Amino acid sequence: MLIITEELELETTDKVEIVEITSNINAAIAESGIRKGLVNIYSKHSTSGVFINENESGLLDDFMDAIQLIVPTNGNFQHNRIDNNADSHLRSFLIGCNETIPFEEAKMSLGTWQSVFFLEFDGPRTRHIKITIIGE
Ligand code: ZN
Repeated sequence: MLIITEELELETTDKVEIVEITSNINAAIAESGIRKGLVNIYSKHSTSGVFINENESGLLDDFMDAIQLIVPTNGNFQHNRIDNNADSHLRSFLIGCNETIPFEEAKMSLGTWQSVFFLEFDGPRTRHIKITIIGE
């Protein structure tokens, strides 16, 4: 069994932004030389998220609308007394900071309509995503 770790650096350009990273992850798997196993994609931040869903522009807008409904930007949150980004943390808490996906033949075993996304909730800034590839 082999374990390879890599770090993906992303420059986000907006306060809230969805970035598809499927090809970045598949490239990291291909480079690792590992053919079959599991890949974990872990965002090292408390105001971002990683999730899997369909890359359809209307649906991505719907996600943003749903997040805004559940955690409004100008909600009356206690953490705003500290650094005014409680909404970013709460959104991250709902989405989660990592996904683990099986892969075979050096490619993630995603469903036809599944893509992997990084979710920025407090940009723009530089983000670091740890990719851990375990397999043989
Ligand atoms: Zn904060």
